[in-house]
Amino acid sequence: MFFIILYMDFKVTILGSNSALPTNLRSTTAQAVQHNNEIFLIDCGEGTQLQLRRMNFSFPKINHIFISHLHGDHYYGIFGLLTSFSLMGRKQDLHLYAHSNLKEILDVNFKYSGELSYKIIFHNLSNHKERKILDLKHIEVYSFPLKHRIQTCGFLFKEKDKERNINPQMIRLYELTHTDVRSIKMGNDYIDSDNKVVANERFMLPEKPKRSYAFCSDTAYFEKMVDTIKGVDLLYHEATFIEKDKARAKETFHSTAMQAAKIAELTETKKLIIGHFSSRYPNPKILEKEALTVFANTQAVNDGDVFEI
Ligand SMILES: [Zn+2]
Repeated sequence: MFFIILYMDFKVTILGSNSALPTNLRSTTAQAVQHNNEIFLIDCGEGTQLQLRRMNFSFPKINHIFISHLHGDHYYGIFGLLTSFSLMGRKQDLHLYAHSNLKEILDVNFKYSGELSYKIIFHNLSNHKERKILDLKHIEVYSFPLKHRIQTCGFLFKEKDKERNINPQMIRLYELTHTDVRSIKMGNDYIDSDNKVVANERFMLPEKPKRSYAFCSDTAYFEKMVDTIKGVDLLYHEATFIEKDKARAKETFHSTAMQAAKIAELTETKKLIIGHFSSRYPNPKILEKEALTVFANTQAVNDGDVFEI
């Protein structure tokens, strides 16, 4: 018997992968997470709206923006993006998840540059604890603390338990009515026309695995995050420095590529993607090479890369 498993889209697009400074090739941090029909934006470095345009993202589909922390390379693009939404006549609410100081900054900004055409619903991440911050029908999002010079959050996107579907071939075979389908979905067996019991399990399509994605930037090496993100399918971890510059990483509360790989190993993730590279390394392959000595499935990202989960 053949089963068709229909997966919802779940993918991550790298909009920016450099630390501190934007360059010709790399913007500062931003990522778009797509799940089903939703686009979630994580961080919003300078120029993020141009990257979204270049990569053909629909602005009205962005309803949730998550800002990890208030270093400029992670949020200076938000003023332009929020303003463009307004210029395009946006009416629907926008949910913004960030530390409370961002609200203060935006209030001052828009007090002087003009009101927006829509409402921002602000979700304060300042208490710096692990918690669920968004709960939608098919996906939930958690924030959790990282270790950086200022309060910084990582984000975990987790698919939720899905209602199992009935195999359409079985519906046709037994000519099931709506009432039968409802009863089978509730877990009951089926009595066929010859009064034989057909086990409930025979009607159901296989359970789809729940997928997850964790975003961890910026942070020093911080094992405490491992419990939260254990077993995640795809892990993005910052890797600002190579091992030779470990002292600099410690001083600035960033990670080396090998430290990122160590977290991936402890997390038992399927794949590690690294970014937030220091401009001092002309080619990030050097970071990837170091990480690969610790964790085999590692990739240094480029702007425009798309990772299917
Ligand atoms: Zn930072």
